[in-house]
Amino acid sequence: MDLKIVNAQIPDRPGLWDIAIAQAHITDLTPVSEVIASPSLTAALDAKGNLVIPGLVEPHFHLDKALLLDRHPAQEGNFAEAMRETLRLKQSFTVDDIQSRARTVIERAIAFGTTAMRSHVEVDPTVGLTGMEALLPLRAEYAWGMTLQLAVFAQEGMASGTEKLLRAAMEMGGDVIGSAPYVDPEPERNVQTIFDIAQDFNCDVDFHLDFLDDREPMLLPFVIQETVKRGWQGRVCLGHMTKLAGLTPNELAAIAPALQAAGISILALPASDLYIMSRRDTHNIRRGVAPIHQLAEFGVNVGLATNNVMNLFTPFGDGDVLKICTLLAQVLQMGTIASHQLCLRMATTQAAKAIGIETYGVAVGKTADLVILEARSVSEAIGSAPMGRTVIKQGKIVATSRLERQLFSA
Ligand SMILES: [Zn+2]
Repeated sequence: MDLKIVNAQIPDRPGLWDIAIAQAHITDLTPVSEVIASPSLTAALDAKGNLVIPGLVEPHFHLDKALLLDRHPAQEGNFAEAMRETLRLKQSFTVDDIQSRARTVIERAIAFGTTAMRSHVEVDPTVGLTGMEALLPLRAEYAWGMTLQLAVFAQEGMASGTEKLLRAAMEMGGDVIGSAPYVDPEPERNVQTIFDIAQDFNCDVDFHLDFLDDREPMLLPFVIQETVKRGWQGRVCLGHMTKLAGLTPNELAAIAPALQAAGISILALPASDLYIMSRRDTHNIRRGVAPIHQLAEFGVNVGLATNNVMNLFTPFGDGDVLKICTLLAQVLQMGTIASHQLCLRMATTQAAKAIGIETYGVAVGKTADLVILEARSVSEAIGSAPMGRTVIKQGKIVATSRLERQLFSA
């Protein structure tokens, strides 16, 4: 046995448990006697009754454009400025610059307990393959603490030369292919091109889809149709989907079964979506966050993600997925214990499934990617995103954080 965590609370199970880990996997779960708690063995890590959760998963992030706000603080603070100025900033991206910002975010994320991340990497005629050149080495360098997937991403549409660059990025070692069809004058053709590449490289697909709150019809039915036509069920993940927030319950009920049947995962990105959506509302402003808690009732795999930190698309955040749980629970009014359990799954097992990782969970046989949180319950974890964390990646402790407080009474 490589490691044993003793006296742990586990989501969905009453009582305290000992978790045995060997060869990077959970090999045994044993209930701790209520009368005699397990003695703290030297080889054991004592959770002291705290909560042990699966590693946090960041299923949708942009490492290449993180931490840009100091270069261009928001002047207008809207989506048009974010698109325009980020494109301008991209012209000066270098490998060193991207790596420097990405390292800061990755190291912070590992300390927060993020053991897997899917980062989009922009590839287009402006930035070329610089993002891939910067992030590919980091995928290997940080494998000790985080499983990093790189999703080759056409943020600027399929302008001439883009498809060739996307294919070159996949040849370099991209894991996933995706785009933002809403910026393309021919969105359906954009979607088809991405699926063509996915089929050629046998990789998963990840779209930024049905973002914004304009009156353009949703592209979702077309993506569902293509997913089924291409036999890509279970391999498609869609981020934002803010237009789902505008559907009536009947409209949502009409489309949800098709999503479930196609095995398409939906991710809400509340920090970005709350910031960008509903800008024409003058009062009682709509939230514009995809109702993923309702989709979950139809059996759709749903998750949450940070998307961006400290840039023009999202001038907030530190990359802590647990804080996004708090935000999502507030925005979608998830207050019950059951909904807090769902919220945690959205940031762990279900987020993992959304990016094609089926081995997450606190259960025998699952990968030993775990976080011990200084929290006594899932509700406390979701409610307060505690800073005290011990992070375990494939059975090894890779980070610890403690909040230091000092009071100075009179
Ligand atoms: Zn994004």
